Amino acid sequence: MAIGEILIKHCDKIEKYFKELSGFLMVVTDKSLNILEFNRGFKNLLNLSESPAGNNLKEYLLPESYQALSLPGGEEYLESRLNFKGHNSPAYVISCHIFNVEEGFIFFGERPVITSDDIVARMSILNEELTNLTRELNKKNIALERANATITRLSRTDAMTGLPNRGYFMEVLKKNFSYSNRQQVPLSIIMADLDYFKSVNDTYGHQVGDQVLISFARLLQEESREEDLPARFGGEEFIILLPHTALEEAVAMAERIRKKLEGREMPSTGVTVTASLGVVQLEEGDTMDSLLKRVDEALYRAKEEGRNQVVKG
Ligand code: GH3
Ligand code: MG
Ligand code: MG
Repeated sequence: MAIGEILIKHCDKIEKYFKELSGFLMVVTDKSLNILEFNRGFKNLLNLSESPAGNNLKEYLLPESYQALSLPGGEEYLESRLNFKGHNSPAYVISCHIFNVEEGFIFFGERPVITSDDIVARMSILNEELTNLTRELNKKNIALERANATITRLSRTDAMTGLPNRGYFMEVLKKNFSYSNRQQVPLSIIMADLDYFKSVNDTYGHQVGDQVLISFARLLQEESREEDLPARFGGEEFIILLPHTALEEAVAMAERIRKKLEGREMPSTGVTVTASLGVVQLEEGDTMDSLLKRVDEALYRAKEEGRNQVVKG
């Protein structure tokens, strides 16, 4: 007796067996793919908690698998890998045998056997993805580092003059202060304030005032060495940190600045301005506060004694 005849003879028992099978999928649909019958394996392989009865098979498939279902062309049999939607997981690939019968379609399916070649191929794809992601991440990290460097630079800079601002000056002063104290190397500070600057604003307007501040900032930069730190201390008040510099040398520098400013016509207006400057050197027993207080007092005296002059503290 042929196997087909035996199967037909015992079809009621075999049907029961098919329905109970859990590692093997069987679905019967009508021509429109509405599910008529399914076995335990269908729910099991697709991890379904609800009964699929009455639903359309397409609801469980990823759209790219619809193409594989174009059986109504008339073929009687098709072998195809279908991608079923994952339930809280990636898609399931089911290797299917599809029969086109008078009543509709019969699907038999199982999880495809994964060969070591499949694994190697998948791993090489994942490896490539990982390489690409790493490359992207490195690029983003470089961009992030640059953005951080820009933020740091901006946070230390006075936007109008481009000079370091007061906060950054104080940071650098703090470092140099302890270094100079420890190593017994000289450290000096110049503080400069423009004279009668209010009247520059009043006479020529705030914009010209700004231009004067920018020019003065440039002059301070021109006169500074690499290791000096000229900064805008606030308003029309500027400060220069002079590491490794003794008082007389600092006074000479302040005098140079004073002279140059006095003889320089400010851009576009031809207006001239002067500055008063105080100079101090770090002394034994100085704190940062006392150092700044002494230079402020020297500047105050320069103002009191007639402006446009340098006074050492
Ligand atoms: P003194 O010789 O005593 O220093 O007189 P002064 O007029 O320079 O001093 P005062 O403190 O009376 O005025 C300082 C002026 O500086 C007033 C303020 O409007 C001006 N100022 C401060 N910051 C800026 C700025 O960013 N731009 C402009 N244009 N003016 C500023
Ligand atoms: Mg002033
Ligand atoms: Mg002032």
